[in-house]
Amino acid sequence: VIDTHCHLDASRFDPDRAAVLTRAWEAGVRAILVPGVEPEEWEPLRALCSSDHRLLPAFGIHPQALPGLAEDDDFAHLEQLDAALAKGGAIAVGECGLDGPSVERGAPIERQLRVLRGHFALARKHGLPLLLHCHRVQPALMQLLEEEKLPERGGVLHSYSGGPELAKIYGRYGLYFSFAGPVTWAEARKPVAAAREVALDRLLAETDSPDQAPAPHRGGRSEPAFLPHIVEGLARARGAASEELATATTENARRLFGPALDRALQ
Ligand SMILES: [Zn+2]
Repeated sequence: VIDTHCHLDASRFDPDRAAVLTRAWEAGVRAILVPGVEPEEWEPLRALCSSDHRLLPAFGIHPQALPGLAEDDDFAHLEQLDAALAKGGAIAVGECGLDGPSVERGAPIERQLRVLRGHFALARKHGLPLLLHCHRVQPALMQLLEEEKLPERGGVLHSYSGGPELAKIYGRYGLYFSFAGPVTWAEARKPVAAAREVALDRLLAETDSPDQAPAPHRGGRSEPAFLPHIVEGLARARGAASEELATATTENARRLFGPALDRALQ
């Protein structure tokens, strides 16, 4: 299995990152995608991932990072992102996207959309897929997808939190859907219904570590070794065998992320 979204560079992993990785490999995780969330973290992330060929960095500006960054610097930051991607080694552009709660915290939706369009342009320029975050502003993302085609290499809605109806609409754009811990939570209805609705060849699995730990670890720090619980949750939602979901999500990740992921799996 492949963890398609894990913030391994988060400070919550500083005390025991090596042990976290050992547990992940022992649990059968074969590669981990680590999305960068703001400019000053891209180069440290690149250095972290250079320590193990199974760690694959992506670079982007998370919408939740925007309130802490000066709007006047947005253009310069996108130029910096262009330069970081030009160096090679990134498996995707992201994490980027739109975030409802961040609108109140100082990142108006117009600004978020401008920065996201910048990521779309860079994904096109560098021939990379997008790692998309969209939380509580689904109509704004849908409108953007209507106005501007998804870059050729496509993208994934990470930690998909919309329902099955939205999944149907997003599916028309060719997007992939990645599910995290909530699909295993006892009272979860929307993610389970969505996991059932999404086409098998569009499903991905992620831990979104250190957040959103799956059952039975819910409430604590999540880590990539918990990924099999999420694959099992997807299998339960679809009434299928875990092995079938493990195979499908791995094949899907290889299709979306291409040769860069295949190299990590060798
Ligand atoms: Zn994330």
